Amino acid sequence: MTSTTAAAPEVAPFQLFDLTVMRTRRLGPSILRITLGGPGSEGFRGGGRDQSLSLLLPHPGQREAVVPAAGGGSWRERWRALPEDERPVLRSYAVRAERPRPDGSTEIDLDFVLHGDGGPASRWARAAAPGDRLTVAGPAVADNTAVRFRPPADTDWVLIRADETALPAAAAVLESLPAGLTARVWLEVPCTEDRQALNTAAKARIRWLVRNEGAACGVETVRAAALPEGTPYAWIAGEASGVRALRHHLVRERGFAAERVTSTTYWTRGLSEERARKARSEASATESGTPEHLKPEQGQQVTR
Ligand SMILES: Cc1cc2nc3c(=O)[nH]c(=O)nc-3n(C[C@H](O)[C@H](O)[C@H](O)COP(=O)(O)OP(=O)(O)OC[C@H]3O[C@@H](n4cnc5c(N)ncnc54)[C@H](O)[C@@H]3O)c2cc1C
Repeated sequence: MTSTTAAAPEVAPFQLFDLTVMRTRRLGPSILRITLGGPGSEGFRGGGRDQSLSLLLPHPGQREAVVPAAGGGSWRERWRALPEDERPVLRSYAVRAERPRPDGSTEIDLDFVLHGDGGPASRWARAAAPGDRLTVAGPAVADNTAVRFRPPADTDWVLIRADETALPAAAAVLESLPAGLTARVWLEVPCTEDRQALNTAAKARIRWLVRNEGAACGVETVRAAALPEGTPYAWIAGEASGVRALRHHLVRERGFAAERVTSTTYWTRGLSEERARKARSEASATESGTPEHLKPEQGQQVTR
């Protein structure tokens, strides 16, 4: 396997990009693709795989997000300097695809799960129409810390488990896999029509877990599987409790080396993204004694 072995750089080179909604397309009952681009997208450069970015969204009652003014320091420092009730709500999304255009702009596809619980991101996506503006904190260089899928060079086969929120990232990861690599893949979606055609050169065995067909979606699905021989690398993303349970199964029951399992919480049932992030940083501050303001600020919990 020829993939990266180097640790991700310490500072993620992210910038604010003021983007325009170019078009929207329903991919299934639960998923909406929004293509962003236009003037302001120049310089956007992601690393593929599970590259993610942050959306800067208005609070309820705000007509539009109060975007940090250009200036010194990182975008996050400028964001943090705004009053708490004014600074934009941040939400993480994967870059499903990125297409440089001849005019120097870039088209970026984001696939939104339209979950029933509302939330600023899901609400924004439902209402989005061509011409709408959206600011994102996105990558300006391809090798950045928001790319988490990094199988070590000696990986013989890859295990991928994603729910619908992580399907865009998983689909992009599958596209990146080298020809012939063995991959065992479990993809969970709400409805039969949410399944998608996927491209990969890997020798991938893909199993769809469709909740409205009554599929079992817990850890038992992977527990029941006979896994390939050789040195594995696992990438797991989705709802917090499922991610935690599967990581535990792979490391404790299957003997995967902990550092060969990249597990990322994409959302937490019953908690908005900032409440989940706060709960996690309070828990880890208690465990490690590290003050909150010294912790790295990522929208996600990653255990490698
Ligand atoms: C690195 C990363 C990449 C991600 N990529 C994507 C992506 O490509 N596409 C995508 O759709 N999501 C993605 N997510 C997940 C997305 O950020 C969360 O679902 C987020 O909570 C949505 O924000 P919101 O404002 O709609 O809801 P929030 O305000 O965060 O939450 C409001 C309520 O909705 C619930 N909720 C949140 N998400 C869901 C859901 N999917 N189903 C049911 N209830 C939910 C919460 O538990 C809460 O009760 C990603 C997350 C991370 C960390």
